[in-house]
Amino acid sequence: MNVRFRGITTRSGVLVEGSKGWGEFCPFVEYDDEECVPWLRSALEAADEGWPAPVRDRVPVNCTVPVVAPERAHGIVTRSGCRTAKVKVGESTVAEDCARLEAVRDALGPQGHIRVDANMLWDVDTAVTAIKAMDRAAGGLQYVEQPCRTLDELARVRRRTSVPIAADESIRKAEDPVKVAVAGAADIAVIKVAPLGGVRRALEVAEACGLPCVVSSALETSVGMAAGVALAAALPELDHACGLATLSLFQGDVTSTPLTPVDGYLTVPTTAPVPDRIAEFETGDQAWAERFERVRASL
Ligand SMILES: [Mg+2]
Repeated sequence: MNVRFRGITTRSGVLVEGSKGWGEFCPFVEYDDEECVPWLRSALEAADEGWPAPVRDRVPVNCTVPVVAPERAHGIVTRSGCRTAKVKVGESTVAEDCARLEAVRDALGPQGHIRVDANMLWDVDTAVTAIKAMDRAAGGLQYVEQPCRTLDELARVRRRTSVPIAADESIRKAEDPVKVAVAGAADIAVIKVAPLGGVRRALEVAEACGLPCVVSSALETSVGMAAGVALAAALPELDHACGLATLSLFQGDVTSTPLTPVDGYLTVPTTAPVPDRIAEFETGDQAWAERFERVRASL
């Protein structure tokens, strides 16, 4: 990866080829086998079944701004061509986050959308204070993603701020995603294909939770990302830019036909790109092969 993100600097996984094309199995290394099951179902759906028919041929995407200096944040947004930026916050001071948000607003202009992601780092009071400061610094936030850990905390923050709340980790970890909406915990649902077990299952979750959805990647290569684009393309409604431009966080990709956005949009592919540059990244890591087989045996 180009920059430390989600606490990691390298990304690894297994690519699998089936009768319908390629799938990607890339659960994070700290996940146990049970948590890997939906990730494998998602990879096998892509390889063996293919995806539901799209209802749109391109999807808007946001650029992602990691915890970097304001000048670098400005450059990331400008180069991306995206009209929506997602800014990681909460890992640095509120003042540093605000300085970065001011730079992002300057790069986007008044018409652009800025959303922030705190990845559960705040308690309720910290969230309310930080969100107010960041909303001001950003010249208006589109939403704040997962400011706190629990549904109860999200609901309490939501009652104390006018900025919409998006649930991300809460959707993935909830045994019943409908609870997120029922609890009054969020205005928007962030959905990711792999942790939910595939495009079809993610469509069911989106419908069940009944909230506007934003499709995000789980830091896949273009092969895995294609499933996210397929989901975004198949959702009946898509009102927000999706978090599917995360290839820019990588130093390279396994394909010569990467899913790179143009002017803030990704073209919807019919299948995952063929990983024709696999040799450049192949490690032959036996632990991954064993993980794949263990999880497959448990399906
Ligand atoms: Mg998130």
